[in-house]
Amino acid sequence: MDEELYLIKDAGVSPRQIRLARVIIGILLLSAAVATPLATTPLLPIPGYMSGFGIAMVVVNVILASLLFAKGLIERKERTIRLGTAYFFVTVIFVPLIAAFPGGLMEAPIIGSTSSAVWLWCCWHTGFGLLIIRYATNSEETAGTAADVRRSILVTIAVVVLLTLAATLGLPYLPEVLRNGHDFFDDSTMLIPALVFGVNVIGLLCVMRMREEKPEQLWLMVGMVAACIDVWLTLYGGARFSLGWYFAKMTSLFTSLAVLVSQLYGITRLYHSIAGANQILMTQANQDGLTALSNRRCFDQVLEIEWNRARRDKRSLALLMIDVDHFKKYNDCYGHLAGDDCLRQIAQQLLRVINRPGDVAARYGGEEFVVILPNTDAAGARLVGERLLLNLTAASIPHAHNQPLCHVTLSIGVSAMVPGPGGSTSTLALAADKALYEAKDNGRNQVCIGRPELFSPAATSAFLMN
Ligand code: GH3
Ligand code: MG
Ligand code: MG
Repeated sequence: MDEELYLIKDAGVSPRQIRLARVIIGILLLSAAVATPLATTPLLPIPGYMSGFGIAMVVVNVILASLLFAKGLIERKERTIRLGTAYFFVTVIFVPLIAAFPGGLMEAPIIGSTSSAVWLWCCWHTGFGLLIIRYATNSEETAGTAADVRRSILVTIAVVVLLTLAATLGLPYLPEVLRNGHDFFDDSTMLIPALVFGVNVIGLLCVMRMREEKPEQLWLMVGMVAACIDVWLTLYGGARFSLGWYFAKMTSLFTSLAVLVSQLYGITRLYHSIAGANQILMTQANQDGLTALSNRRCFDQVLEIEWNRARRDKRSLALLMIDVDHFKKYNDCYGHLAGDDCLRQIAQQLLRVINRPGDVAARYGGEEFVVILPNTDAAGARLVGERLLLNLTAASIPHAHNQPLCHVTLSIGVSAMVPGPGGSTSTLALAADKALYEAKDNGRNQVCIGRPELFSPAATSAFLMN
C-alpha cells in the first residue's frame, strides 16, 4: 500500500527542473544585460499590442490565481492562498491599468489622464512585490479556509478600487512628482520606480530565503527575477514602444507564466500518478495476493455476469470447485511457507488448463479454487478437471501424507446448466460443492459431476450432465 500512497504524493523538485530554472534565469539576466543599454531605442508601434498584452495578463493571472486558491483550499494552506492573492491583485489592477493606458483599449485613456496609467503601473508592481513578501514570510503551517479566499478577493477588489480612484480622480491632490503628465518615467519621477524595483528585489530575496524544495518556490523565484527585470527595463526604457518597454511587457507576462506552467505541469504529473495508482488499486481489488489468480470478489462478479449472459444466449455455464487433498497435513509436514508455494504451483497448473478467453480461474478461499467455464457443458467441464488432475500428477509435488500416491492431488466438483428464468448462481455453486464432497467421499483425486436440478426451485432449468 505504501507504494500507491507514494505514487500520489505531490512530486518535489527534480534536478532537471532546477537545471531548467537556472538556464531560464541565465537567459533572462543575459538578455536584460544586452537590452539595458539599448532600452531607449524606439521601435515601431504595434497597434493593439497593449490591449493584447492586457488581455493576456488578465487571463493568465486569473487562471493562476484560481489554481492557487483551489490548491490552498484543498491543502488547507493559507500561504498558497496568499500567493493566489498576489496574482489575483495583478488580474484586478490590470482592468483600470489598461483602461487608463493611452492606446490600451482606445487611443485616448478611458479613465484618468496619462499619468494615471503610470501610477497604476507603480501600484501593480509595488502591490505584487509586497504580496510576494507577505507570502514568503508566512508559515507553511497556517491553515487556509474558504473565508480567507473570500476575504482576499474582497480586500483586493476594494484596494484596487481605492488605488484607481487615487490615480484618476485624486491625481490633482498627489504630490507634484506624481503628476508630470507623461505616460512614462522621466528624471523627476525616477525615484518611484527605483522604490518599486527595491520592493521586487526584496520579494525575490524573501522567496530565495524560503529554501524549500518545491516547484512553487523554484518557479516563483524565476518569476520574481523576471519581475525585477521588468521594473529595471521600465526604468531604463522610458517611453512607450521602446525596446526596453517591449521587453518589460514580455517579462511581465513571464512573471506569471513561469508559475502557471509549473502549476499545470504539477497537476499533469499528479493526474498521471493517480491514474497509475488507480490501475494498481483496480488490479489489487480483483486479484488474490498469494496466487495472482482472480479473488473471491472478482469471481462473484464474473459468475453473475456469465450467468446472465448464458441465460440470455440459452447456453450452458459450467463451474468447477476444486479443493486440495489433505492440505492441512501438507502444511503440518512441510510448513506454511511451503504450503503457500504449493498453492502457487496449483494456480499455475490451473491457468494451463483453461484456454478460452472467457474462462476464469479464481481462489475461492484457503486451499479452494473455482473455475468458471462459459458456454461449456458438464462433459467439457469434466475434461478440464481431468486434464488438471493429470497435469498435477505429472508435476508430482511431493506430499508424504497423501496416501497412497504421496504427491499433491485435488478433488473436483463440477456442475453445469443452462440458466432458467427463476434460477440463480447459487444453484450452480451448491451443485458443484455437493459434487466436491462426493469426490472427497469417493477417495479424492477425482472429478465428480453435480446435479443442479436438485438445488434449483425452477423446474424449467435445463441441465447438462453425462
Ligand atoms: P481435505 O482433503 O478433506 O480437503 O483435507 P484438508 O486438510 O485439505 O482440509 P481442511 O479444510 O481441513 O484444511 C485446509 C487447510 O488448508 C487448512 C490450512 O492449513 C490450509 N490453508 C488454507 N489457506 C491456506 C493458505 O493460504 N496457505 C497455506 N499454506 N495453507 C492454507
Ligand atoms: Mg477445504
Ligand atoms: Mg482440502
